[in-house]
Amino acid sequence: MEITKQNRKWLDNMGLDHPIVIAGPCSAETEEQVLKTAHLLKETDTNVFRAGIWKPRTRPGGFEGVGAVGLPWLQRVREETGMKITTEVGNANHVELALKADVDILWIGARTTVNPFAVQEIADALKGVDKPVLVKNPVNPDLPLWLGGVERFKANGIDQLGVIHRGFSAYNTGHYRNKPKWHIAIELKKEFPDLPLILDPSHICGRRDTILDVSQTALDLNFDGFMIETHIDPDNAWSDAAQQITPAQLDQITQDLKIRQKSSDKESFQSKLNLYRKELDLIDNNIIDILSDRMGVAENIGKLKHKENVAILQSGRWSDILKAMIETGQSKGLSKEFVEEVFKAIHVESINIQHKV
Ligand code: PEP
Ligand code: MN
Repeated sequence: MEITKQNRKWLDNMGLDHPIVIAGPCSAETEEQVLKTAHLLKETDTNVFRAGIWKPRTRPGGFEGVGAVGLPWLQRVREETGMKITTEVGNANHVELALKADVDILWIGARTTVNPFAVQEIADALKGVDKPVLVKNPVNPDLPLWLGGVERFKANGIDQLGVIHRGFSAYNTGHYRNKPKWHIAIELKKEFPDLPLILDPSHICGRRDTILDVSQTALDLNFDGFMIETHIDPDNAWSDAAQQITPAQLDQITQDLKIRQKSSDKESFQSKLNLYRKELDLIDNNIIDILSDRMGVAENIGKLKHKENVAILQSGRWSDILKAMIETGQSKGLSKEFVEEVFKAIHVESINIQHKV
């Protein structure tokens, strides 16, 4: 399915600059909280105000959102500040109510993107409606599911689309709440180059102190903007308190971010870059040659073992190789994780080849 420049035009049509900054509380709590936050955000680079009206909680019992009574609060934000407004929709009923309130942009949450029935229901409810839709990645690291979410809207004629990387849940997310998987976002961008790609560092980090770093990484990877949870009193927020920041902190972050040029046409830059790229191409070809040689040797070993009726997997030998290579790799500045991953892949392929003999 072709995602064309059409899919970016809505950003210009709405007067949204690069990078687009969507900010506002995780949840709309009270009219006062929404309006106070919005008026402070108006003084920052924020161009779209977000607030969750319906909150998909992983377990019941938490704050599930104020519901439709919050929609007029968002309308007041738009009237009083001029910012566009956006909220999450999770079913056809939410869509109907959000459209009645003329919400400018709708977003699909991570817990909805995992469910093709729900996405289809929302896409059907939006048929013939001229509103931008932002599709968050599903909670699990599944690129086709994310692509599928976008495609369901596209197939219903919804052309103003964007995607949001909010990280993925995993058994071990380290110091993240939801681990960023940059390669999945980049794969998605490769598939749909003209789709605006937005980062939600709040749900990735789950805390305040790492938002700037993660956001800078995204900018360096050519992301088009951010959605950052911002609250007038983060510590007392009714949801996601640990990750929300104040409008003043958001302002500081947008000032500290270094916006890189997508490319530079300076001649010296281009010629140096070309040289490096040629060098990389040569090295990559060498890697393929060496891997092919290695698999040739594995094949010979396989033949030998077969002749002598010896088992293919010699686990003692394999752990010796891995240990030695990790040490050698570290002495040359390569991380343990990287060497381990490369050699595991080589080992699996060697075993496959020996099986085939
Ligand atoms: C949110 O944006 O508040 C939210 C619920 O996000 P996600 O769907 O990414 O968990
Ligand atoms: Mn949230």
